[in-house]
Order: sequence, then C-alpha cells, then structure tokens
Amino acid sequence: MNEFGYSGLLKRRVLVVEDEAINREILGNMLSESYDVSYAENGAQALEMLRESRIRYSLILLDLLMPVMSGEELLGKIKEDELLSGIPVIVMTSEKPAEVKSIKMGADDFITKPYDSPEIILARCERIIQLYEEKSILRSAEKDDLTDLFTHEFFDEYVRQIDSYDENAYDDAIVLNIEHFHMINEMFGRGTGDEILKKVADMLVHKFENGVCIGCRPSADYFYLYVDHRDSYDGVFDGMSEELAKYSHIPKIRLRAGIYQNVDKGISIDERFDHAKLACDRIRGDYTKQISFYSKELNDADLYNERLINDIDDAIANRDLVVFYQPKYGIQSDKPVLRSAEALIRWKHPELGMISPGDFIPLFESNGLIQKLDHYVWAEAASQIRKWKDEFGYTLPVSVNVSRVDIYNPDLEKRLLEILDDNDLTTSELMLEITESAYADDAKGLTDVVNSLRDKGFRIEMDDFGTGYSSLNMITGIPIDVLKIDMKFIRNMNKDEKSLKLVELVMDIARFLNVPAVAEGVEEASQVEKLKEMGCELIQGYYFSKPVPAEEFNRFIVSAKEEKA
Ligand code: C2E
Ligand code: CA
Ligand code: CA
Repeated sequence: MNEFGYSGLLKRRVLVVEDEAINREILGNMLSESYDVSYAENGAQALEMLRESRIRYSLILLDLLMPVMSGEELLGKIKEDELLSGIPVIVMTSEKPAEVKSIKMGADDFITKPYDSPEIILARCERIIQLYEEKSILRSAEKDDLTDLFTHEFFDEYVRQIDSYDENAYDDAIVLNIEHFHMINEMFGRGTGDEILKKVADMLVHKFENGVCIGCRPSADYFYLYVDHRDSYDGVFDGMSEELAKYSHIPKIRLRAGIYQNVDKGISIDERFDHAKLACDRIRGDYTKQISFYSKELNDADLYNERLINDIDDAIANRDLVVFYQPKYGIQSDKPVLRSAEALIRWKHPELGMISPGDFIPLFESNGLIQKLDHYVWAEAASQIRKWKDEFGYTLPVSVNVSRVDIYNPDLEKRLLEILDDNDLTTSELMLEITESAYADDAKGLTDVVNSLRDKGFRIEMDDFGTGYSSLNMITGIPIDVLKIDMKFIRNMNKDEKSLKLVELVMDIARFLNVPAVAEGVEEASQVEKLKEMGCELIQGYYFSKPVPAEEFNRFIVSAKEEKA
C-alpha cells in the first residue's frame, strides 16, 4: 500500500510460449493460482499476441525448440523491440549450451526441464517480475520535490502497471488546473505560488484517500489523477476552491477539473489525459462550472474547430471564402427601390463542403481570427463596389459587418480608409454594421470609436437591434445612422402580439432617433405591408432575395438602373 491507497492486489499476466500441450498444462497449473496465464504455441503466435494485444505482460516463459519460429528467434525480436524489451523473459530448456546462449541474448533466467517443483518455479517468476518492476519504477525519480506527488514519468509507469494488472478495470483520468495561477505567481511571488501548489496536492491526497488513486503534477499548475471509476463526481471537488481561497487569502482563486470517465485502455496514457485536459480547458474562465466531462462529441467539435482554424489562411488564399450580397430595398415609395446591399461571407470548403457562417463566425470571434476574415470581406466588398461602378456606372453602397474585436483594434479606421483608397471610393459607400451587444459591452469605448468613424463620413448601422439589452437611455446617447431590427421579431410579428409590439416600439425608437430602420429576415408580402404601414424604410430578406454571389447580384443592379432611367 502506498500513500494513495493503491496496492498491487490484481493479478499480473504471464505468457507461456511452448509448443507441447502437456508442458503448457503443467506450467498453467503451477502458475494460475498467482497469475493470469496466456498461451502461445510458437514464436510467431507469441509475437503476434505481444504486438497486437493491449494487455501488458509481466513475464514471458519461453521454450526454445518450437516449430514456425524458435524461441531463440523470438527472444532476438523481443529484445530488439522497444516496447517489448521491457518484459522479462525466462527461458525453459533441457540443454546447458542453450541456456548460456539465451542468457547472452538477453534472457533473464532459465528453468530446466523436466520442471522443478512449483514452489521453485513460482519463486523465480516472482523474483524476476519484482526486479523488473522495481527497475522500471526506479528509472525515474519518484517524487515531485515540491508537492510530494509522483513525477510524471513515474506516474505513467504506475498507470501502465495498473492497466497491466487488470485491463478490464474501469478507471477515470482527471486533470485539474488552478485558474490564473501565473497571475498569482506574479502578484504574490513564487513562494506563495509554491504554497498553493502544495496545498492543492494535499487536498487531493485526502480527497481520494480511500480507493485506487495516483497523482502527479506534469507541469506548473496542472495536476493529473488516475482513479477508480465513479459514476458521479457530485460533491467530490466541492469546497476545494473555497478552502484554497481561505488558505491563500486570494478570493478569486479556483480549481477546475476535467474528467475523462471509463478511459479507453486502447489509447495511450497521454491521450487519456489529453482528453481530460480538453474538458478541463473548456471551462477556463467560466466561474459557473467547476467540473467538465470529456465526451466524444466535445472532442469532435473541438477537432472540427481546430480544422477550421488551420484552414482559414488557405481558404483566403484559394478564395474558398466568397462574399455574397443581399439587397436592401427601400419600401416607402410606390415601387421598391434598390438602396444598398449587405456583404455576407460564405465558406466553400474543398473537403467539408459549404459551411455556414454560424459555424465559424462565433469561433473566429472567440479567438480573434475574425479580424483576418473581416479585413478580407471589407476588401472584397470594396473592390466589388468599384466593379459595379465601372461596369454599370452604378453606385451601390454596401454594408459590411464589423465585429467587436475589430472595434478595439486601434488600426481599424486606418485599415478601412486604406481599403477605400485602394478602390478609389469614399466613406459614404461602405457602411458598417455593428451588433447591438457590442454597444452593451463597453458603451464608452465603442462610442469613441464610432464617433471618430462618423467624423470621417462612415455610416453606422446598429445590427441585431432588440437582442442586445441596451437600455433606452444608452441608445439615445449612441451615435448611429441606421437601426436594424433583429429578424427574430420580424419572424414572429404575424404570429405573436409581443413581437409585433416590439417591432412597433423599434420603429418608434428609430423615429425618435431620427434614423431609418431596416427590417431583416423579411420573407412574406404580409410582413412587407405591415412594415410599410409602420413607417419602416428598408427591407432585407428572402422576400426580395437570399444573399447571392456578386455575378448573380448584377441583375438587381441592371433592373435598378432601368428603373432609374
Ligand atoms: P447578420 O449580420 O444578422 O446577417 C443576417 C443573416 O440573416 C444572414 O445570415 C442572412 O443570410 C440571413 N437572412 C437574411 N434574410 C433572411 C430571411 O429572409 N430569412 C432567413 N431565414 N434568413 C435571412 P448568414 O449569412 O448566415 O450570416 C449569419 C451571421 O454571421 C450574420 O448575421 C453575421 O453576424 C455573421 N456574418 C456573416 N458574414 C460575416 C462577415 O463577413 N463578418 C462578420 N464579422 N460576421 C459575418
Ligand atoms: Ca449584419
Ligand atoms: Ca442582423
């Protein structure tokens, strides 16, 4: 028993390689009390079992004279193989010269035929196994000096041995991390940091006192635990963050855990903990969750996201990212008039097919890559406005989406002006859509940026209005040129009274601010009628057109030109 309550009570597995059935039986009878025994009839079969199986053998008992592949040949192969060379081999033979030769080749001991008494054979097996296990464990320093947990190397070796005693046992891999640890180190000094690490290790040891559990600290503030499976972790880590906060006098300190339950023993130990770490890192910064469980879906989603992140540069270079345009029509005149368009990105991935912006915009917003994408869209849109001017002699202002992240880039304005300059356009031709929720986040900072952009002549549309929870008080203080009412209100305006009332309210607000309103997601004539009555100026939606490629958009320009003439 070690201090983590782990004891090697489970049976180790021994592989008997022997072509004669009677000998297999005799050995099997001797060994099966103490070991799980597997059998192979020749070297080739044994090699296959050793390489294919996920079971870890603690010892090989090897006959030398066998058909197909001799014991000598197998021994050679085992000792050459990095993974297998760590398994001790006892050779069984009746010839003295063969004994000497096999010892030279790397066998660890020999048993003579006919067999000695079972006691002697068992004792030899036991001694060799013990020797090997001690050797492999001692190869690495055993303890992490600071926390007294195992070192990573030692931990891995231990997990391997736990696996080998019973490959059918259910185990969980747990990764714990201390949130903001590097900050704690910086603010309070390394000494405090060290004390906190010790405290965490201490708490973990006590948490898992009863049951199979081993732990290590693979890097600064990450802890690994390999524990007996449990269905529920309700309450297991409860109170640890609080205890830590009390101990350290750092109120915001927190431990979060990622748990991979019932680990697949077919994957490497590293992969098991990668899974747990993935779950653990998912809840970084999320103070509402302390534990997160790994699942295949989570892993797949993460891999998918990683793929998209990896592919974005190629997508831009290969023009798999294409800008579509959706018209906005003025509806207050007798006949609808084309007034502008919104640029919307589409990703035609060569392998994953068409990917909707809903699948990659939030991802790229979360990691800042959205800037790259938006700059691309702005440049594409500007060059398209130029093209329409040149080809049709028609100026169509286009709105582009500006993400929250873009707004806090000090080069935003410069970048936009450069793009316009490159295409010989003015600020009145490229409109900027900023989602309402961005205003709610940091009204002051945003207002400054927006004011400056408006001073340069840009027109700002507040996108998704009605979803951002900005107060009326705030709205009146923010400089905007257009209100875009969110489509979810439009969708339901003919269905429920509340949505209809909200649409009316937004129209009132627009009137109060003295700016035109755009209704987005308008699909039906009845909606157009209602919106017109309410005084809505502009409409964007499938009623007129879905977003389409620039080529296809040409026809809207052609007919708008005809109308004008
Ligand atoms: P959004 O800015 O609110 O764009 C309007 C969305 O409504 C678009 O979805 C458009 O295709 C869809 N839509 C327009 N009319 C209708 C309609 O009548 N019915 C229905 N069901 N849908 C309609 P899309 O293109 O899938 O874009 C989704 C969101 O992704 C956009 O919402 C925007 O927030 C973001 N996005 C798209 N392109 C860009 C971009 O280039 N940069 C940034 N930062 N975000 C973008
Ligand atoms: Ca938009
Ligand atoms: Ca919108």
